[in-house]
This record gives sequence, C-alpha cells and structure tokens, in this order.
Amino acid sequence: MSENFEKLKPYLDKNMAINTALSLLSWDNETLAPKESIDNTSKVMGILSDEYFQSLINDDVKNILNKLSRDKSLTPLEKSICNELKKEYQKMEVIPKQEYRAYSELISKSHHIWSRAKKENNFEIFAPCLKQIIEYKRKFTQYRIKNGKNPYNKLLEDFEEGFTMNVLDNFFEKLKNEIVPLVKKIVDKNNKIDKKYNRLKYNVEKQKEFSQWLAEYVGFNFDKGVLAESEHAFTNGIHNHDVRITTHYYKKNLESAIFSTIHETGHAIYEMGMDDSITQTLVGHATYGMHESQSRFFENIIGRSEEFWKPIYSRLQKLFNKQLKDISLEQFIKGINKVEASLIRTEADELTYSLHIMIRYEIEKMLFSNKIEVEDLPQIWNQKYEQYLGIKPQNDAEGVLQDIHWSSGDFGYFPSYAIGSAIAAQIFYHIKSIMPLDKYLLEGNLKSIIEYLNEHIHKYGITKTTNEIIVDMTGEPFNPDYYIKYLKEKFSKIYELDNE
Ligand code: ZN
Repeated sequence: MSENFEKLKPYLDKNMAINTALSLLSWDNETLAPKESIDNTSKVMGILSDEYFQSLINDDVKNILNKLSRDKSLTPLEKSICNELKKEYQKMEVIPKQEYRAYSELISKSHHIWSRAKKENNFEIFAPCLKQIIEYKRKFTQYRIKNGKNPYNKLLEDFEEGFTMNVLDNFFEKLKNEIVPLVKKIVDKNNKIDKKYNRLKYNVEKQKEFSQWLAEYVGFNFDKGVLAESEHAFTNGIHNHDVRITTHYYKKNLESAIFSTIHETGHAIYEMGMDDSITQTLVGHATYGMHESQSRFFENIIGRSEEFWKPIYSRLQKLFNKQLKDISLEQFIKGINKVEASLIRTEADELTYSLHIMIRYEIEKMLFSNKIEVEDLPQIWNQKYEQYLGIKPQNDAEGVLQDIHWSSGDFGYFPSYAIGSAIAAQIFYHIKSIMPLDKYLLEGNLKSIIEYLNEHIHKYGITKTTNEIIVDMTGEPFNPDYYIKYLKEKFSKIYELDNE
C-alpha cells in the first residue's frame, strides 16, 4: 500500500463504518422498527449523517488527496478510490456552504410537503417547494459546468456517466417511433388476455413461503442475506456478505410480491457478487442504470419467460390450487405479460414502462433548459400521457405528483430505469449467443447464468464504467436497438401480431 494511501485509510474506514451503521438503521426503519421510534432514531441518523459527511470532506483528507494525485505507486484499486473521492470534492467545493445547508434543510422538509400534496391531491401545495428545489438545482449545476454546456447533462451524469442527452435523445426517439405505435396497436386490438385470476384472494403466509423459495431458486443466498417486508420493496447492500431485500404482500394481487421478489433478488445478486477486495470501499457499489439492468434482467427477461416458469409453475399451482387449477401455463405467461396503458409508473407493464420514463425525461429536459416553469407541469404532464399512452390523469395524485424523486431533488434519475431495461436486453442477446440460455432455464440452472454475470459485471463495482462493462462483455457499446428488437419480438408473439 502506498504510504499516502495508508494515511487516508483511517478516514475511509471511519466513513465506511458510519455508512454501515446508517444503512442498518434505515433498513430497520423501513422494516421492523416500531412506529413511535422514528423521531428519536431520526435524531441519531442526523448526527451520524453529519459525521459521515465530515469524515471525508475535511482539510486533512483534502491535503492527503492532493499528495495522492502525484503518487505514482498507487494500485489500480487505490487509484479508483481516490478518483471517486476527488469527484465528490469537485462537486462539493464549488457550492457555497451556506447554500448547500439551506438546500439540505429544504430537502429534509420537502418530502413531507410532497406527501401531503399527493394525499390532498393538490399540486399547488407542493409547487412553491418544488420551485425552490429547482432553483437550487439550476444554480448548483451552473457552478459545476463550463459555459455553454447544458445543465441537464450534468444532472444525468450524476446517475449514469456517459449517458448524455445525445445518447438519450437517440434512445427515446427510437422508443417514440417504434414502441408508441406498438402499444397503440396492442391496446386497440381488443386486449382479450384475461387475468382476473390475479385478483382472487391469496393467503399471505403461503405467498411468503413461495417468495422465500423463489428468491433462493433465482439465486439469493440466504447465508448472506435476508428477505423481509416493507411498504415499498427495496434492496440494501450493507456489504457483499450482508444483503437485505424486501417485498410486499397483497392479499388480492398474486403477481406483485412474486415480481418484486425477483426484481430485488436481481439487485441482491449484484451486491453479493461484488469482489471481496472492493466491498466496503467507495467503489463497492454499482451505478443506477447498471443496477437496474440486473434487476430487470431477472424480473422481466428471465422471470416473465415461459422457459423460466415451465419447471416451477406447477409448484405455484399446487400452492394455490383453488385459484390456479384452471389457469394453464400458457394463460399464466400471457397474464404476467399483459399490456395496459396505465397512469402509474410503478404499476406499468414491461412494454409501456419506458414510455413513462420518456415522458419524465422530456419534461426534465424542458425544465432545465428553462422552456417551462413549475406552474406548467401538471398540464404538460397530462398532455404527454394523452399523446403517448392515450390516457389522461384525472387528478395530480395519479399525474405529476405520483413520484417521490423530485421532492428529493433527484432530477436526472428517471432515465437510469430505462437505460437499465435497455442494457438488460443487450445482455440478453449476448448471453443467448454464448450459452444455451433456454435450456438452462428449463433445467432450473440459473447458476451458470449468474456465474457469468458475476465474472463480467458484478465483481467490478464501479471500478469500470457502465460502457466499459458493456463493451468488455458484449464487444460493442450501449446499443438501444437490442431493446427495441426485444420488445417487438416478445410482444408481437404474445399478441400474435405477425399473424394478421
Ligand atoms: Zn430496482
């Protein structure tokens, strides 16, 4: 280890330890903590958050980092860690401390205001707060960019480096041209797929039993992780030997828990696959788009395929014999892939999902090139839903107020969901070309697939960029054509569109 890096180590260790404690507390808050614990625990988390920030952003670390930038003896991993830290500094240093503090206070209140606005179905309650958030965001990005650059690119970069407006304009243009008409065609085609079975009553204990089994079947290692329940499903990777996922069980919705369990298992497989040398370091995590590529690969591409369900559907059928005995595998596969134009992003099917993202992308782009203001949002939102999905929200709660992201200042976040789906499709075609994927799925052999993903994606954390991972693995850079091809092939088959 380089002498200078050795000096940095205690600071990194402290930062990691506080981060671990914070992760465990937030996990506990979402799962088992009693309702009345929130206020006191929040106090603890506030203090730890300050410590977390100061543990790395301080003059001592800054001096060490300066010396490290001239140090030629660093290993590649040490270099990656220093680069990450340097990026943090560059981001923080240009923002005046007072402004940042005011912004943090605003964000800590805004979630509550957004939540009330959504409950009361009134955008005007949230609008003044959102306006301030956007003003800060515009200001902060201006500090960070060189003249003439579009600020939205900077925001996108925070979530997925390299996926600039150029890349995304091209991506969403393709979606608009190819997928919007496909959705219209399917929706117009008197959508006969019957999935009433999904809304029958399903015993929650039995659902839990199945999810637990399913997670392990897909590849979740219960020696290194747990599956619990929370309002919204999520994954918390404490480190590669402690990965926690949640799901949510609904009495009258069988699919919901099944697919959120597979989705989070996909995230967990990523976290469990991080190399021992990088876990608990600043590079021991994944970018947003890359992470979503794995959860969506398992949830949609594998988890909604016939080959995946063929060996295991009878198990589900037996468990819920009364509800599913007359539902054939074929019917079930059609049911879990049914396309519906809907208003709520998180409930969208696989085909329409990215159109929800496209709408948000177009709106954010307009906001950050000052083409629209906060007051215009509800109307533009509704217009775009009508234009692309053919339906119009009746109120703001099912329209512009539905997502939490903007209340946290997370502009530029949404595209990473669609990028994830597109990368997943590219990986799918690549994997199909190098191994007998269908055969493996029919045999219930997901291990071979996971080992390959571990070796080519998971173990690297962010020591490689998303595009480096894709190029090294598939031989070509990010290419959204695979995603379009995948969606067209899959849904034309399900809806028998080629036969017409
Ligand atoms: Zn996810």
